[in-house]
Amino acid sequence: MNTISVFWFRRDLRLEDNAALYQALRSGKAVLPVFIFDTEILDKLENKQDRRVDFIHQALQSLDTELRNLGSSLNVRLGKPLEVWKNLLEEFPIEAVYANQDYEPYAEKRDQEIANFLKEKAVSFHTFKDQVIFEKSEVVKDDGKPYTVFTPYSKRWKQKLNDFYLKPYPTQKYFSNFIKNQNFSIPSLSQIGFEKTDTVFPAKYVKDLILENYAEKRDFPAVLGTSRLSVHLRFGTVSIRHLAQRGLAVSEKWLNELIWREFYMMIMWHFPQVIHRSFKPQYDQMVWENNDEHFAAWCAGHTGYPIVDAGMRELNATGFMHNRVRMITASFLTKHLLIDWRWGEAYFAEKLLDFELSSNNGGWQWSASSGCDAAPYFRIFNPYLQTEKFDPERFYIKKWIPEIGTVQYPKPIIQHEFARNRTLE
Ligand code: FAD
Repeated sequence: MNTISVFWFRRDLRLEDNAALYQALRSGKAVLPVFIFDTEILDKLENKQDRRVDFIHQALQSLDTELRNLGSSLNVRLGKPLEVWKNLLEEFPIEAVYANQDYEPYAEKRDQEIANFLKEKAVSFHTFKDQVIFEKSEVVKDDGKPYTVFTPYSKRWKQKLNDFYLKPYPTQKYFSNFIKNQNFSIPSLSQIGFEKTDTVFPAKYVKDLILENYAEKRDFPAVLGTSRLSVHLRFGTVSIRHLAQRGLAVSEKWLNELIWREFYMMIMWHFPQVIHRSFKPQYDQMVWENNDEHFAAWCAGHTGYPIVDAGMRELNATGFMHNRVRMITASFLTKHLLIDWRWGEAYFAEKLLDFELSSNNGGWQWSASSGCDAAPYFRIFNPYLQTEKFDPERFYIKKWIPEIGTVQYPKPIIQHEFARNRTLE
């Protein structure tokens, strides 16, 4: 029997411009496309109506449709990755496995375990950079140490950029190499223990007009002034090379945001301790109030601070929150309520459709001032001034708080000046 290659989809759910898929298809063997619903991850999700799982499921269905048009289909498995790989090796004559690099600690540990197992079975395992333009230590200081401040990192990132890094991988040239005459079927959401959600997922494309006006409009939560591509970047339904090219061509400001994403990934890779601790160790000395009632009010959007509550309600209802409001709500939790940033981080991690360990951790540590290139500790967002600046007509607030201005809307749970002085002290 002829041996085959496997392409293992993870956070790169697309056929076009996909680095490891390109290498797999070029290898000359028939390529079996596989996705594993990892029970190590799924079992930890308490809410069985999880938007991310729904998003992934839909993305797999689209991939399967594309593959069927090419005479192939997607093999979707449910289980612990090692067990799944044991089964796959029994079922198929696999010679090589291809996958794109994933930099989160859990993923690195998983991949090491699978690499060891495959090696024992004399199957080669090849990984490639795909989800970032620059990974790991590709952008470092002259002395080889990682940057911990964004601006010099981004300058070096831009200096290093050239056409080579932006070139798409022309996978379509080799599409005929997908394995043929296999008719796999994707398990339904309920078969993997989940339910459909009512989420309307953002489009995979962003208009030039949004990018052209990005610098002026990006801070106004009532306006559709940002790309809303975060979930697609998270799960790789779009190519970072393609988006970086758009940024270069249309909006450097927007390109900078893509660089922030890589900055935080680089930080997490070099300093994985940030996942549990403050980047600046002295901030772990903070004495938090951690008042449960205040935390519950914040989560529910009942703090009596309209811009904070609107943000939390947007998050709870849609799985998205505008970046400006993420900063305001995070500042409010840590600096007004003196609640540990890890509580807020965990709440966002549970709710955000675009949840990304590195960006979420970076955003929270930035807001709490404990992070590498963070807001200084004395920068305490004034929710009222932020509203005047970024939602002056209260369109965003009115959208998410229908009872605003009535007796139903709660009184502030804490007084602004008191909270500010307490944190400064
Ligand atoms: P755009 O403004 O169109 O930006 C384009 C892309 O650049 C985004 O899709 C995202 O991939 C990246 N990006 C933009 N801003 C940032 C940033 N500050 N840091 C890192 N990457 C950025 N982003 C996530 O993708 N996942 C998270 O879990 C996450 N948690 C956050 C938590 C806090 C407390 C804060 C302050 C920010 C967080 N962000 C997170 C960053 C940012 O809020 C979102 O990326 C952005 O709101 C997504 O909307 P967009 O796609 O329209 O972004």
